[in-house]
Amino acid sequence: MKNKLQILLWGMVSASLLIGCGASANSAAEVNSKSEAIQTEEESSESEIPSEEPVSRDIFAMDTYMTITAYGENGEAALDAGETRINELDELLSTGSESSEVTLLNQKGEGVLSEDTKHLMEASLTLYEETEGAFNIAIYPLMSLWGFPTQEYKVPTDEEIASILPVTDLTYLNYEHVTGEVIFEIDGMAIDFGGIAKGYTSNSLMEIFKENGVEHALVNLGGNVQTLGTKPDGSFWNVAIRTPDDTGDILCVVQVADEAVITSGGYERYFEEDGVTYHHILDPKTGKPADSGLTSVTIVSQNGTIADGFSTAMFVAGKEKAIELWRSSSEDFEMVLVEDDGSISATEGLKDRILSDFEIEIVS
Ligand code: AMP
Ligand code: MG
Repeated sequence: MKNKLQILLWGMVSASLLIGCGASANSAAEVNSKSEAIQTEEESSESEIPSEEPVSRDIFAMDTYMTITAYGENGEAALDAGETRINELDELLSTGSESSEVTLLNQKGEGVLSEDTKHLMEASLTLYEETEGAFNIAIYPLMSLWGFPTQEYKVPTDEEIASILPVTDLTYLNYEHVTGEVIFEIDGMAIDFGGIAKGYTSNSLMEIFKENGVEHALVNLGGNVQTLGTKPDGSFWNVAIRTPDDTGDILCVVQVADEAVITSGGYERYFEEDGVTYHHILDPKTGKPADSGLTSVTIVSQNGTIADGFSTAMFVAGKEKAIELWRSSSEDFEMVLVEDDGSISATEGLKDRILSDFEIEIVS
């Protein structure tokens, strides 16, 4: 039976748990956004010999500061392969590159997708259906209207928005699954995988690491975290979710293994005009920054691609709809929702592995 249960989680986050957040993860979060999920290292003082040593690398790609960490003797080789993969996906998916597959598709209005873009297209179309249009890759012409891709921001008029909205109708995108052929059936259509690409990338890094014989790894792509296995000592990874404000305080910690922890929030990218803040996650229904009453959405899932897509979509959908979509979804994922008034709710799969000094409403 679906019911709501209020629980209090007082004082469960000990100071020692929060000490020693990885420096690179911290700096990525600071440069990239005000509030994101970051890794916390909980190295027990009692643990004697670490079973495997980690190696880490900082990378700037996809407009994002990233840190990738792998454990064990194959770590360096895995990081090399991981870095190559990140750059490959960046070149394929970047709307900022003149030669990326996505840019060429947007220019020509048709094309045949490569394996990676096919996968992203299919995941995006499924998410569009599942989220009743809240996740929409055809949002790109509106992103451009608001000036997000070029950072030449402006607040468009209602008439301008109304004139662009029709080309963001994803039903005009004709996709042939077998051949990977795409045709835009309306002039002016353009797509952007920005709401899902980092999750796909972190997911893909897990595969690369496994192929390279790594069993324990953690990647942080601008605050979007994905983990491979447990920590080498068999315990959970602790991933902190920060408050969506200027303080950078930690809101809660989720314990995960073999999962992605991906957060969306308006604070990640925004501009201000006449005292009003306009952020980068648009509601496809209005063509304006989503104003759903949520300040951040974190998705925990074994599938990084799904986690990323849903984090964006649920931010647009708002709490009530997000919970409805979570209940009815065929996908396996959990959520942490933070509302404008600071209240936090989490889905029941996280009940025994979310630690916080704040009150958390558990939703089932
Ligand atoms: P994220 O940080 O994963 O929530 O992704 C935000 C990015 O997704 C934006 O910068 C846009 O590139 C893109 N985006 C914005 N609104 C939407 C939307 N409603 N559906 C899909 N992608 C979106
Ligand atoms: Mg996303």
